[in-house]
Amino acid sequence: MTIEVECQCGKVYKTGEENAGRRFACKQCGAEVVVPEGGEGDIAATLAWIREQRDAGHSRGALRQQLEEHGYDAETAASLVDTALGDARQTAARRARSSRRAAHGGGGGDSEGLGWLIWIGLLLFINLLSWIFDWPFWIY
Ligand SMILES: [Zn+2]
Repeated sequence: MTIEVECQCGKVYKTGEENAGRRFACKQCGAEVVVPEGGEGDIAATLAWIREQRDAGHSRGALRQQLEEHGYDAETAASLVDTALGDARQTAARRARSSRRAAHGGGGGDSEGLGWLIWIGLLLFINLLSWIFDWPFWIY
């Protein structure tokens, strides 16, 4: 997809979407021209870019700042980061859930719990049996 950008002098440039947000000097008048961010398709590209940057170790704050430098306003930048990476609170909740799952340790914790249940059940059952058979009624 190509982006059309018109300089203040009227000269029109066509450029690839990979140049969205970049600035260059107009060949005709020398003024600074900013390549605008494109439409829907570019949002998907931007979201992919945000995830890439996050995986590269950039913080959400740094990403928002970079987006603002690319011509987004602060609110749009924040919502783009939230859309790409999920809401901060949701992400934290997801992380907490997965760490709880990890604490259970691949099923080992669960089978140990089940073992205890069987053990206690067996103990109660034996106690019940001995209680029944020790009952004077059964002896006499
Ligand atoms: Zn110009």
